[in-house]
Order: sequence, then structure tokens, then C-alpha cells
Amino acid sequence: MASLNSADLIGSAQKIVIKIGSALLVENGALRLEWLRGLASDVAKLKAQGKDVVLVSSGSIALGRAMLGLGAGVLTLDKSQAAAAVGQINLAQAYQNVLQVHEINAAQVLLTLEDSRNRRRYLNTRATLGALLAMGVVPIVNENDTIATDEIRYGDNDRLAAQAASLIGADVLVLLSDIDGLYASDPREDSNARHIALVGEITPEIEAMAGGVGSAGASGGMKTKLMAAKIAMKAGCAMVIVEGIENPVSALIEGARCTWFKAENNPAQARKLWISAMKPVGTLIIDVGAVAALSRGKSLLSAGVVRVEGVFERGDPVDISAQNGDVIAKGLVGYSNIEAKKLVGCQSSEIEKRLGYPGRAALIHRDDMAI
Ligand code: GLU
Repeated sequence: MASLNSADLIGSAQKIVIKIGSALLVENGALRLEWLRGLASDVAKLKAQGKDVVLVSSGSIALGRAMLGLGAGVLTLDKSQAAAAVGQINLAQAYQNVLQVHEINAAQVLLTLEDSRNRRRYLNTRATLGALLAMGVVPIVNENDTIATDEIRYGDNDRLAAQAASLIGADVLVLLSDIDGLYASDPREDSNARHIALVGEITPEIEAMAGGVGSAGASGGMKTKLMAAKIAMKAGCAMVIVEGIENPVSALIEGARCTWFKAENNPAQARKLWISAMKPVGTLIIDVGAVAALSRGKSLLSAGVVRVEGVFERGDPVDISAQNGDVIAKGLVGYSNIEAKKLVGCQSSEIEKRLGYPGRAALIHRDDMAI
């Protein structure tokens, strides 16, 4: 099967998410600081090229359980959540230390499944991550293991990383693993196992290659990596599985063996398709000036809205129609219907006065719109 050029794919990416598994970061209960320093210098190189980088790091439970002397056995939910709380603060500190050397600010972002399922929280999380990236910060993301319970957890950071990639519109998701990609059979059992360099579609044949859970201490394995690939590809993000050796991103760029999962669309196209497929729960009727602004790729401002129909919350999909009834776009609305009604015809500078609290200028941001 053909392969892809990692240097080109990383080189042309603007937003990159890198996922670091527990097994790479924590060895016998201690952080692998030298390895982490190498990763930080790779991140600094990407940042120096003007790229946005988000790190999704596991390791809080592995670290915390060692610090608390909880041994190697299976932990009860409350103990593993307690371990995560103790481990996470140290994990975040370690990232802050290694990135500070390169004058890069790190930010801790703890997410739960709700943050991508609930549309309001989805938009807020997206806005916050966007603000951090715009200021050159490197967000360090993990699941909020301390409060997320089993039923509402991702449980593995492979899918969490893919959701984060989808959320920020990343071009590339790098999964640093203890294996250099996908094999047609288990390479630990079959030394002739065939390495797969490129996956264009997750077929049942590819899924059959995934097998079960991988290394001890990790929740993932190839199965969750394929689930992550599905999420990423749907979001227009290419994904790569590569072994987390020293300076892993540099190694990838220099041609380390890996498996690429290629997306059909780019993130912006995928986002528009995703928005177009949603069932609208309301309508914003806009004036001719706003119709013209939208066709020039602008956001929808409250001044151009003449009427609001339907009941909706911030983040819900709504139609945008001209006054003659033609639906011209669909988008994720920035305000509830109650707020939107108060903002009909409102100049951006008057928003705070009308609402009684400060608000965002756009009723629908252009990135949240499909024309
Ligand atoms: N969120 C978990 C932790 O930080 C790891 C989940 C995973 O192993 O993928 O310990």
C-alpha cells in the first residue's frame, strides 16, 4: 500500500494535536523527564514555525497511584479518581516546567464527554481553546478523571484527543504510542506481521486488525485508536500512529515508520458538512445587508437580524433566511432564542446594555456557518 510523506503533512498543518499515552510518560510510577524534555523541544520547533499545538496527555492516574502507594492492581473508581487528582497536578506542573524552558506558556484544560456532547459547552470549550491558541499558549488536555464517572467518561485519551482535534479544527492528530502503527496481525505474536502504512477508510478488514487493549496501565490499544481515527477523519483531520521514541515528532518528520489515516476533506469543509447535516430548531431572519455580508464570508451580527423564530439554546443549529423566506445558510447560534430576540437589530456596541451583561459580537460566527 502507498505511504504518505510525514514531513509534508506536518509541514503543511496549521493546527496539530499530539496525544501522549501513559506508558510513554510514566515508568515505574515516575515521570520520564528526559523524554518529556525532548517532546517539549519538538513542540517548540513546531511553535517556531507558527503552528498551533495542543497536547493531550494521559498519565495522571499512573502517576497518582504511585505517589499514593496504591500498588499495581485494579483500582476502585473512587481510588482511581483520587489518584487522578494527585497525579494531574504533578503532570501539569511537569509540562509547565519543560515548556517554560522554551518560553512557552502551558494551560491545563480538563474535559469531560459532556463538553463535546452538549452544544453550549462545545461552543464554550472551542472558544476557550481558540483564545489560548491565539495567544500562543499550548493547552495540555486530559479528561477530568476526578469528576467524570464511568458512564459519562471517555476512559481513553485516544478518543478524547480526536474530539479535541475535531473541536479546534486540527489538520493533524499525532498519537504517540508504544508501537509504530497498525499491523495486519499482532506483531507481538507474529514477527512477520504486515505493517500498514496508509489507511484511507476504516473498513471491517481494518477493524479486524485492531485486536484488544494494548500495554499495561493504558486504557487504549488499537481499538480505541481506530475509534479515534474515525472521529478525526470525519472532522477532516489526518491521524498518524507513531512510536513515541526520543524527540518523537522530529523522528516522525524525518521518516520514522508510522501509520497515516487520511481524511477526505479538510477541517473547514468537514465542519460545514457536519453543520449542514443538522436539523435546525429555529430560524433567524436577516436583512439584505446581512445577506450580502454573509455571502462575503462575514459572521452574522445582531444588527442584521430582523426576526427570531423557534426555541433554542446557545450552540443549537438554526436556519438563516432572507426576508423573502429563502434559507441561505445554517449555523450554530451563539445565543438562546430569548437573548437573540433582545438583540434583534442591535449594534454590537449596545449588546451589553440590551442583555444586561456582556456578550459576543456575532450571533453566528462565520466558522459555525454553512452557506
Ligand atoms: N485520563 C487517563 C489518565 O490521565 C488516561 C486515559 C488513557 O490511558 O487513555 O491517567
